[in-house]
Amino acid sequence: MTEKLKPCPFCGEKLRLQNNHYSGPLWKRINNSFRVECPKCNASTYEFTTAEKAIEAWNRRADTE
Ligand SMILES: [Zn+2]
Repeated sequence: MTEKLKPCPFCGEKLRLQNNHYSGPLWKRINNSFRVECPKCNASTYEFTTAEKAIEAWNRRADTE
């Protein structure tokens, strides 16, 4: 079951889920991290270890902003 991504609260663009194999500074790398990013205005979540967490974080943010 995949949660649906809400559109960007800033520009209304459809969001995309990014999967980064290596991200963050060298001393704090997360392997295979996920985040939701707006291709238009570059709004994004933090990095999460699962896609579900990233989507959940985005949807929570979209609700409050
Ligand atoms: Zn946007």
